[in-house]
Amino acid sequence: MKNRDHHTIAAGDDSLLMQMMSAAVLAAAPGALRIERIPVPEPRAGEILVKVSACGVCHTDLHIMKAEVAFPLPAVLGHEISGVVASLGPGVSGPVPGTRVVSAFIMPCGQCSPCGAGRDDLCDKFFAMNRLRGTLYDGSSRLRRTDGTAIAMYSMAGLAEFAVVPATDVFPLPAELPLEESAVLGCAVFTAYGAVRHAADLRGASFKSPARSGRRRLLRSMCERIGWKRRACSARQIPSTARPQMCRHGCAN
Ligand SMILES: [Zn+2]
Ligand SMILES: [Zn+2]
Repeated sequence: MKNRDHHTIAAGDDSLLMQMMSAAVLAAAPGALRIERIPVPEPRAGEILVKVSACGVCHTDLHIMKAEVAFPLPAVLGHEISGVVASLGPGVSGPVPGTRVVSAFIMPCGQCSPCGAGRDDLCDKFFAMNRLRGTLYDGSSRLRRTDGTAIAMYSMAGLAEFAVVPATDVFPLPAELPLEESAVLGCAVFTAYGAVRHAADLRGASFKSPARSGRRRLLRSMCERIGWKRRACSARQIPSTARPQMCRHGCAN
């Protein structure tokens, strides 16, 4: 994407100079993404601005583009990113600008009852504000067109050059992990991990894995680390709750 440039808009008697960025905007569904130039968002209290290095494209994004999942439009999709901290909102002390980070699709508010109980995955505000309304937790989106039209955010709206993310969802990336490849840690990796580790609960079971794709290699690696034996298994060993993550033979591929 192009480097940031500047765009001047009239604001009453004043002229504001705003930094611009490219973002992939979904204006209507079913429909395609179009690159638009929109203002770089500004982080508010408790938020961090991340310069996006990479963003995974998830099947959930495709569901929204095909109008199979309802979401407010126009919107910027993309919910698993890696990048570098660009600036901190008020009240945020770190990670400091320049830190390499990853962010996951569930952005816990850190204040609601489920968050307090350690169930970030059930965060009330995330589902009520972001998933239903496309906003962050003050009830507004950080993205807009230059004409003022609000643009909904699917999670942090990662398919853009910059993304505002609640500080509760910004994690430093270990130095040994490459920045771009690590974007999938934010959805593909931990949803697969959840299926293998919690939904399937097959500790001690065996599995068969031809490892023909990245996802299958990923699941195989997880199975091995959990301690599963690598050989053919019976479909009866796989609980129905975990089967969507498994191959058609019922093996953890
Ligand atoms: Zn996803
Ligand atoms: Zn919460």
